[in-house]
Amino acid sequence: MAGYGSHYGAGADQQYQMNQDPRYNNDPRAQQQYPGLQPSISPQPGYQQYGTDPNNQQVYANAQHTPYQGQGAGQSPQQPDAMNGLAAQMGGLDVSAAPVRSHRKKERHAYHDLGPTPASAPGPPAPSPGALGPSQFLHGAPQAGSGGEPAAQPGQNTFVNSADQLRMGEEAVTTQGRVNPEQIPSVARSRDAATVFYQQHVYPTMEKHLPPSAATPFIAHDQGNASPKFARLTVNNIPSTSESLASTGLPLGLVLQPFAALQEGEQPVPVLDFGEGGPPRCRRCRTYINPFMTFRAGGNKLVCNMCNFPNDVPPEYFAPTDAAGVRVDRMQRPELMMGTVEFTVPKEYQTREPVPLRWLFMIDITQEAINRGFLDAVCKGILDALYEHESVEEPDDSTVSLKLPAGARIGIVTYDKEVQFYNLTAGLDVAQMMVMTDLEDPFVPLAEGLFVDPEESKTAITTLLKAIPNMFSMVKNPEPALLPALNAALPALAATGGKIICTLSTLPTWGPGRLHLRDDGKGRDTDAERRLFTTEHPGFKKTAAAMVTAGIGVDFFVASAGGGYVDIATIGHVSRLTGGEMFFYPNFVSPRDSHKLQLELKNSLRRETGYQALMKVRCSTGLQVTAYYGSFLQHTFGADLEIGTIDADKAIGVTFSYDGKLDAKLDAHFQAALLYTSATGQRRVRCINVVAAVNEGATDTMRTVDQDAVVSIIAKEASSKISEKSLKDIRASITERTIDILAGYRKNFSGSHPPGQLVLPEHLKEFAMYTLGLIKSRAFKGGVEPTDRRVHSARLMRSAGVTETSLYLYPRIYSLHNLNPEDCFANAETMQLVLPSTLRASFARVEEGGVYLVDNGQIVLLWLHAQVSHNLLEDLFGEGKSSLQDLDASMNELPVLETHLNAQVRNLLQYLSTVRGSKAASFTLARQGLDGSEFEYARMLVEDRNNEAQSYVDWLVHVHRAIQQELSGQRKKEDTGDNDGILSNLTSLKAPYWT
Ligand SMILES: [Zn+2]
Repeated sequence: MAGYGSHYGAGADQQYQMNQDPRYNNDPRAQQQYPGLQPSISPQPGYQQYGTDPNNQQVYANAQHTPYQGQGAGQSPQQPDAMNGLAAQMGGLDVSAAPVRSHRKKERHAYHDLGPTPASAPGPPAPSPGALGPSQFLHGAPQAGSGGEPAAQPGQNTFVNSADQLRMGEEAVTTQGRVNPEQIPSVARSRDAATVFYQQHVYPTMEKHLPPSAATPFIAHDQGNASPKFARLTVNNIPSTSESLASTGLPLGLVLQPFAALQEGEQPVPVLDFGEGGPPRCRRCRTYINPFMTFRAGGNKLVCNMCNFPNDVPPEYFAPTDAAGVRVDRMQRPELMMGTVEFTVPKEYQTREPVPLRWLFMIDITQEAINRGFLDAVCKGILDALYEHESVEEPDDSTVSLKLPAGARIGIVTYDKEVQFYNLTAGLDVAQMMVMTDLEDPFVPLAEGLFVDPEESKTAITTLLKAIPNMFSMVKNPEPALLPALNAALPALAATGGKIICTLSTLPTWGPGRLHLRDDGKGRDTDAERRLFTTEHPGFKKTAAAMVTAGIGVDFFVASAGGGYVDIATIGHVSRLTGGEMFFYPNFVSPRDSHKLQLELKNSLRRETGYQALMKVRCSTGLQVTAYYGSFLQHTFGADLEIGTIDADKAIGVTFSYDGKLDAKLDAHFQAALLYTSATGQRRVRCINVVAAVNEGATDTMRTVDQDAVVSIIAKEASSKISEKSLKDIRASITERTIDILAGYRKNFSGSHPPGQLVLPEHLKEFAMYTLGLIKSRAFKGGVEPTDRRVHSARLMRSAGVTETSLYLYPRIYSLHNLNPEDCFANAETMQLVLPSTLRASFARVEEGGVYLVDNGQIVLLWLHAQVSHNLLEDLFGEGKSSLQDLDASMNELPVLETHLNAQVRNLLQYLSTVRGSKAASFTLARQGLDGSEFEYARMLVEDRNNEAQSYVDWLVHVHRAIQQELSGQRKKEDTGDNDGILSNLTSLKAPYWT
């Protein structure tokens, strides 16, 4: 078993006992905090519709067992013989050795020791001011023992030799000679265990538990520390000195996703109004009021948690403190109770009068867009995104989220060699087109009617969007003038700011700022290629910077016709700098990809979006910000980040270094402040507060590593280097980083082990798999890869949140032919979706006749083995679909059938659509031997030798060898770029089993 589930699930202490009750209503804490809390994770509306009919299940279950079993290798994971054969084929490894694993009794709570919690009798902790307040975090503070302190966890580290404890969760793998692939740490298993656990448990943010692993849905209970959805530290117990941090090899970083979507059952972020005075802040360092600031002198002094400055409390904010030093009104003050809050801010935080968000659709109407069906799909997608809610039956209270916020305005512009504006004024049956032909000096040809209320002008908008695909079919200009079109949009939004959704179907080769085919396919991994990863185009750079200043962000939807070059580096620079996103459809085929495009347009329009944003991260004295990674503009080092628009799917990485020594008796604090205008037109600051303990010597640090945050920071760092360093050097530095961290652990923190064992720290067990996934990603992999795809991949990781990154580096794979009858339906008692377990990403798992759903967060593939059962095909796709050839290659949705299997897979797809980043969970068929997309499937099996790099097993052997060399002082570093590292020797290897 991977450690995660057993680690928490078998928890012996009272807190978890209580939480283990799947019905949250029994959790007095949850009940009190969230009177409306749903029983457990929200049941998705679609999940229950089929499972409720027991007869249906029964019939299907009987029917299932005969035909499907006969086809493949059966339900067992794999016959040993078959696996040996495949594994030997893939890695040349003998896999017969018995595993060596040290799995002693685990430390129950390896999470950060935020200070010596006073021992108190275990019992259900009652919610009380003391339980949630700063007192908990102040070491030795007398009030820490007050009333409702969360119970100390029995068996927690206080009385145990800490060195012993650290060893308890380790994973030891013998890598000498023989490795059993079954026994090496599994991402799939670890995710599954966490997913099951968090279907039954709330994540409390102040109770010293590691954040749930990425790609795991969970409900967080904000107790003063921000939810991991918004912020994740790489380590939750920080070493007091930079030397101690260096001994771990780990980065000290924070991944922030300020608008991360919340799940049903989670408390929305409160919006607080402090009137003309604005929210209280530290006079010295400008930190905003938060739960970790303390009150002294009877409530007259406010002590800053960052710089310790004792501020005077403004009279309008005064409240007396009780005997324990806690403000008497604290329970009524969300800013003193919750880790993430928003403040509306007064005029001095504005540069202009904020208005509700304006959306401008800029639609490419050139030849390729028309011929490929792209234009048609775009117009339909926009219509759906704007008006689809009207056809959906929803209870009154949930329609709000489907509409644009009140007051939002939309405008439509089309472009080819000219730019066409439309007057959409309400009352017009037909929109009036105004053509702007001055590409050198673009202007907006109409003063009124460009931005309209989508409801009031529904007739004009609908008529226009329905007409556009045909309107230009007689003209068919081949070359779009993209930069002039963007420059025409700029003045249209300059006064207000807003969001542009721009589509493009081919390399924009017309007018000022025309681009040309820079990528001639030569000069792989040279300085010349590196220039293709960035843009030196002054026009695009200037426009992008001007847009950020004006508070404008751009999402691109780019389809490259026939897989041709579109210069994503230059075009995508505009979204990279403005905080937008690049949705890229290499080799767009309609109708196969239309559904995905439309769902993603809808997500772009409906996800939470703020604009004209400024961001700053503050941290405790002794630490300083080293760098930010993400989509934004930073004029000079140390300046605030300027962001045109920021949405729910964007994350920013921050790294820190020491400018002194931290006091191990105090905690370390972080506050991210995002000043922005909401889509409803309110100027606000979102404050995200994070606390961590501090320790001497870093032993406690190793217990509190957040693997997903570490991987995310390394991925963001590497992605930002793509135009500076060679890909080979970047791969080598990822390798070095992996070895540094694991060798650091072995050298400084692990107990004694036989030299033949690779010893992995409990919370970094799958770390090496993720870094291998990173080396294999399109951004960094060796061999040939179109530069458009490399740049797109690198920018994706630079701005993605931890879930999207995690899935991108290691996909989740479901075996559809082995589903149990109860899988993918809501459990009748818990109302939770019963999720089938996921498989390791290796061809060794593929069964003859099998059907697999593979999801890397970007695309979903439905891979079907050539010998798949006819019955299964008919159950899944309908009568008459009994062979792979009967299926429509452009299928992207399942038909709605009465069969059990069909309902299961539809439920699973719906679930997947809720647990991902910005991309839609619409699938593409990958039929063995028929569809080109099966090469993509092969690419995603990242445990195998592919993508010009080793198999997972070989990689661990390689890493282990380097660790042994490090320990014996003979390690040869790989990051000089001169050495022939193992990875560069594998450039010509191809996976043999795909031919
Ligand atoms: Zn301060």
